[in-house]
Amino acid sequence: MPRKPLRPETLALHAGWRADPTTGAVAPPIYQTTSYQFRDTEHAANLFALKELGNIYTRIMNPTTDILEQRLAALDGGAAALAVASGQAASAFAVQNLARAGDNIVSSTDLYGGTWNLFANTLRDQGIEVRFVDPADPDAFARATDARTRAYYGETLANPKLAVFPIAEVAAIGRPLGIPLIVDNTAAPLLARPLDHGAAILVYSTTKYIGGHGTSIGGAIVDGGTFDWQAVPERQPQLNTPDASYHGAVWAEAAKPLGPIAYILRARVVLLRDLGAALSPFNAFQAIQGIETLPLRIARHSENAQAVVDHLRERPEVVRVIHPSQQTGLLRERADRYLPNGFGGLLGFELKGGQEAGRRFIDALELFYHVANIGDARSLAIHPASTTHSQLTPEDRLATGVSDGYVRLSIGIEHIDDILADLDQALDAAGGGN
Ligand code: PLP
Repeated sequence: MPRKPLRPETLALHAGWRADPTTGAVAPPIYQTTSYQFRDTEHAANLFALKELGNIYTRIMNPTTDILEQRLAALDGGAAALAVASGQAASAFAVQNLARAGDNIVSSTDLYGGTWNLFANTLRDQGIEVRFVDPADPDAFARATDARTRAYYGETLANPKLAVFPIAEVAAIGRPLGIPLIVDNTAAPLLARPLDHGAAILVYSTTKYIGGHGTSIGGAIVDGGTFDWQAVPERQPQLNTPDASYHGAVWAEAAKPLGPIAYILRARVVLLRDLGAALSPFNAFQAIQGIETLPLRIARHSENAQAVVDHLRERPEVVRVIHPSQQTGLLRERADRYLPNGFGGLLGFELKGGQEAGRRFIDALELFYHVANIGDARSLAIHPASTTHSQLTPEDRLATGVSDGYVRLSIGIEHIDDILADLDQALDAAGGGN
């Protein structure tokens, strides 16, 4: 391998794998196995005692999944990664790895709905309080912090507002306090590099752009390896006090011989071991395949979405287009700072004709798929007021940024002329242009 640091386009194809030493196979093999033969009893004992890292059982690690983990860590400049069964599992583990009953985290209000539910209900029922603050004001994170705050949490580019999270601002508040910033970078892989701006941990749903083809659910956590978990030890008891589930290991110490990976090591050998949300080797392979073309795809998603934004602004049926390029002032500055190479494939727009026009528009689409997903190579659309947000009161819907006429698009990598033609005919059908 060349000695100079490799660029993302190259890492996407090469990081974590060269060729199979036994067969010479160039493509990563799918190691469809549950377990691994130990060389002898000493080898087995060393692996269990973490004196040596190696394969024990696919619930905790797998060689195919390991390639995915190394590739994801390399792409973001992290120390190590842990792949899990879904983006939801990744968000849950990312928090549970630091917070236990009686603790709290401070989170942005701008979140994917599934993460909102996890935080507002399921983690609360487990005794972990999530304090929601508006990320427009980064100091709100400081104000919501107390002695039992274990982490800050935000999404790089959250639906439906598509306002970019103030990554460096919130990370800088947390670091001196011993509080890491966890960023869900699902909507902007490669486009945003939150670790470079001080975030400590990344979360991904690989289901979206990383997999890229709408075939496989998966998730990952990337450990930046730069957060000092021992700087304020009382802040992070799960990494600084003996773990009864692992013969008294203190993770911040025990991980030292293996690298700056205390956080991700604990997530693997405690949470993945006990809660079992393991990614299947086949889905790991699918995510690896996706990553190989991610640099090309994410650039095309961004380019096509920008062209759609420019086109929609000219249509009389459209009241407003929601996209980082349409923001002004501080929001636009943040978008340019954190996503310098493109804003990704997501956008929203509001139809003059409200809910009825929204429904007519969606029903008229022919090329776009009507699905509750984002980040597929294909173009996708949904009308949140009649689907994902239909159980909210109209007031609550508006508070989350979803008006009755709001339509969300995830722009794919088809030819732009075909995308625009489908949007045009559906807007004609939706009416309200005069
Ligand atoms: N994070 C974000 C930003 C998402 O959009 C999603 C899914 O839509 C998730 C996390 C959850 O991922 P998964 O569906 O893979 O569990």
